[in-house]
Amino acid sequence: MIPPNQPSKSIPEENNDDFIILLDEPLDLSDEAATLPSDLLANAWKIIIVDDEPDVHRATQLALKNLHFEGKPLMFFSAYSAEAGKQLITVEHPDAALILLDVVMETNDAGLKVIQYIREELKNQQVRIILRTGHPGEAPEEAVILTYDINDYKLKVELTRQKLLTSVISALRSYRDIITIDQQRLELAHALVQLRQTQLQLEEYTHTLEKKVAERTSDLAAANRELYRLVALDSLTLIANRRHFDEYWQQQWQLLTQQRHPLSLLLIDVDHFKFYNDYYGHQAGDECLRAVAQGIQRVLNRPTDLVARYGGEEFVVVLPYTSLKGATKLADAIMTEIYRLNLVHLKSPVSDRITLSMGIFCVTPQASMTSDAPIAQADKALYQAKQAGRNRYFICDLIDIICPSQWS
Ligand SMILES: [Mg+2]
Repeated sequence: MIPPNQPSKSIPEENNDDFIILLDEPLDLSDEAATLPSDLLANAWKIIIVDDEPDVHRATQLALKNLHFEGKPLMFFSAYSAEAGKQLITVEHPDAALILLDVVMETNDAGLKVIQYIREELKNQQVRIILRTGHPGEAPEEAVILTYDINDYKLKVELTRQKLLTSVISALRSYRDIITIDQQRLELAHALVQLRQTQLQLEEYTHTLEKKVAERTSDLAAANRELYRLVALDSLTLIANRRHFDEYWQQQWQLLTQQRHPLSLLLIDVDHFKFYNDYYGHQAGDECLRAVAQGIQRVLNRPTDLVARYGGEEFVVVLPYTSLKGATKLADAIMTEIYRLNLVHLKSPVSDRITLSMGIFCVTPQASMTSDAPIAQADKALYQAKQAGRNRYFICDLIDIICPSQWS
């Protein structure tokens, strides 16, 4: 590695601060680093000396021999030309902490080109560079320090051991800080990646959770609707029950009081149903009620119309936005539908089949009225229809029954 000894120039004292590193006598410093174990190498400050004067290598190593910085030794690697220096920093020791670099070697600006190569081609911004020259005319200090990314500029003739040590330690400290910052930057980048991953996992989890909540909410809403339907349903006839009628009636009463629209009510009774039950049995009676309920249901067209089982064999029909004329027309349609069903009733004194009696009432609700009054009026009309011989409907207004009507 080290070429034959060159002629020496002066004899320095190793510990003399004024000692110039250029030597009088040749020094036999072998390339110690080459024989060091790899773990020690990895834990040392690597310093590359690039200089075409072998004495400079020797003097430098002698001056810094046995020096430790922050508990780690300094290891030296020598290159005697700019090209060899490039090779060392590129291939063998890209993790070098410091380069002590000569300017004039193969050419007058060979060292300056090495700086450009390291910074621009290798993109190595970490390694510290101290430029040393014996020919300041080839590289004026001010121009060089402004143009090139270096840490220090030294004239070889001025370089005492103490100045060299100060310059080297200062550069190593700077290198240590850069490495620490780079390491922290890497750790930060790693932490950011982990944070982003955690964030993504959290977002995914939140999305899944929201989806599950939405599904459960939807299921719950469907279950609630079904529950409400069941609660509102008469299990025998499968139309609305009395409870639902009460709610719906109150609701429509209030709405139409505000809107001042007519509200009609039909109260319906199956004629001589007790005779039917007694003669055909309860099961047939149940089927008969179901058929009547479904028959009435079929006649109703609008979503706001409601038929409910009022109790026993009584049914009630709520007709919002319906005049007396409209309600009467619907009563006729219901009578026709049940007649058409031909539910044979041999024990009926009024017909050969199941027939209905109805009380009809129509009112435009007002705040001064009670919501129970129309039901009582319809009931009164129903009573009149029964009294008049059944199988008919009576129409009633707030004042009195208007007229009887026989259905046959
Ligand atoms: Mg030179």
